[in-house]
Amino acid sequence: MSDYYFSEEHELFRQSLRQLLLKEIVPYLNEWEQAGQVPTEVFRRFGELGYFGLRQAQEYGGSNLDIWFSIILNEEISRINSGGFAASVVAHPSLALEYLGARATEKQKEKYLRPGILGLKRGGLAITEPGGGSDVRSLKTTAIREGEFYRLNGSKTFITNGYSADFLIVAAKINGGISMLLVDREMEGFSARKLAKLGWHASDTAELFFEDVMVPADQLLGEEGQGFYYIMQHFVWERLILANGGVAASEEALERSLQYMKERTAFGRPIAKFQVLRHRIAQLSAEIECTKQFVYSVCRQLNEGEYPVKEASMAKLLATELCDKVTTQCLQMFGGYGYMEEYPMARMFRDARLGTIGGGTSEIMREIIAKMQMDHMQYQQ
Ligand SMILES: Cc1cc2nc3c(=O)[nH]c(=O)nc-3n(C[C@H](O)[C@H](O)[C@H](O)COP(=O)(O)OP(=O)(O)OC[C@H]3O[C@@H](n4cnc5c(N)ncnc54)[C@H](O)[C@@H]3O)c2cc1C
Repeated sequence: MSDYYFSEEHELFRQSLRQLLLKEIVPYLNEWEQAGQVPTEVFRRFGELGYFGLRQAQEYGGSNLDIWFSIILNEEISRINSGGFAASVVAHPSLALEYLGARATEKQKEKYLRPGILGLKRGGLAITEPGGGSDVRSLKTTAIREGEFYRLNGSKTFITNGYSADFLIVAAKINGGISMLLVDREMEGFSARKLAKLGWHASDTAELFFEDVMVPADQLLGEEGQGFYYIMQHFVWERLILANGGVAASEEALERSLQYMKERTAFGRPIAKFQVLRHRIAQLSAEIECTKQFVYSVCRQLNEGEYPVKEASMAKLLATELCDKVTTQCLQMFGGYGYMEEYPMARMFRDARLGTIGGGTSEIMREIIAKMQMDHMQYQQ
C-alpha cells in the first residue's frame, strides 16, 4: 500500500536517511537527552545533507521536493526514540522555515531562510504565552511602531528551540491585530529561560521574555494584522507532521514490544503466546494501520494543493491520542522493565504524552471538527 504514495526514489531516500540516523544520531541520543539540547553540529550536518530544505525553493538552497520526502524525514526521525530530538530538528524546518518560505521578503530570506536551510541558523516559532495557548486571539504580547522600529513587550512560553534558537518568529499584537515579527536572539531586551519537562528531553523548550526589544520595521513577516490567518494556515502542516510522527512512533513501539514478547517467558512460554496479549497487539495494529492510511490520505490532499483543515485536525486528534494509548499499552507488555530507563518504553511513553497537547490540544481539534462538521464553518486558504 505504501507504494501508492512512495516511489523508488522516496524509498532510496528513506534507506540512506535510516543509515545516517543509525550511524550518526542514535549512538548520541542518550547524551543529548541528558544535555537537554541538540548540538549545533547536528543542525549543520542536517543542513549540509539538505534535510532542512526539502520543501523550500531551490533559489534559497532548497530542493523543492514533494511532501513525501518531508514525511519520510519525519517518520524516520520519529522512529529512533527521542521525541525531543525529533521536535528540535523537525520544528526548525516545519515551523520556522515554513513561515519564511511562504511569507518572507527577499532580504529576510537571505538573512534567515538561506542560512536556516544550511543549518547555520536555528529557528523557533513563538505563539503560546503564559496566559494561554489555545486561545490564540487573546495573546498579550504587543509591538508598537516607533519610527523605523517596533517596540516589542511581552512573554512566550513552551517554545521549542526557544533557548538555542538564533531567531524566533514571534506573534504579537500591532494595533490590536496579530502580526509576526522576526526577532534575533542578540537583540537587546530579549532573554530566555530553559524549562524542565516530563518528556522531549533532547529538545530545549523555553520561556521567552521581550522587554522593550526594538525590532527593525523590516523584520515584520508578511503583513501587519494577518498573523492569525498565517498561524491557522500553517497549523495544517504542523498538525499533519504531529499526526504522522505519532503513527511512526506507535509503529515503533509496537515493533519493539513484539520483539520483547517473543523473548520474554512467563509460565513456561513466551508471553507472545498469551491470547489476551495477542488480541491487544491485533487491536493496536488495526488502529495504527487505519490511522496511518488516513494520515497519508490527508498528506496527499495537501500535496495536491487542497486545504484540508478538518481532515488535518482529525488526523492529529486520532494519531496523537492513539500514540498515547499504544505507548501506554506497550509499556505494560514490558512489565517492570517497561518502567526502567535502560529499556525503550519509558522514554516512548513520556514523549508520546506531548502529542495531544502541542500544536493545538485534542479538545481544540474536536472544537474545530465540530464547528466544521456541525456549524458548516469554512476556513479560507
Ligand atoms: C513541549 C512543548 C513544546 C511546545 N512548543 C511550542 C512552540 O514551539 N511554539 C508555540 O507557540 N507553542 C508551543 N507549545 C505550546 C502548545 O501549543 C500549547 O501548550 C497548547 O496549544 C495548549 O495551550 P496551553 O498550554 O496554554 O493550554 P490552555 O490553552 O490553557 O488549555 C488548558 C486546557 O484547557 C483546554 N481548553 C482550552 N480551551 C478549550 C475549549 N475551548 N474547549 C475545551 N477545552 C479547552 C485545553 O485543551 C487544555 O486541556 C509547546 C508545548 C509543549 C508542552
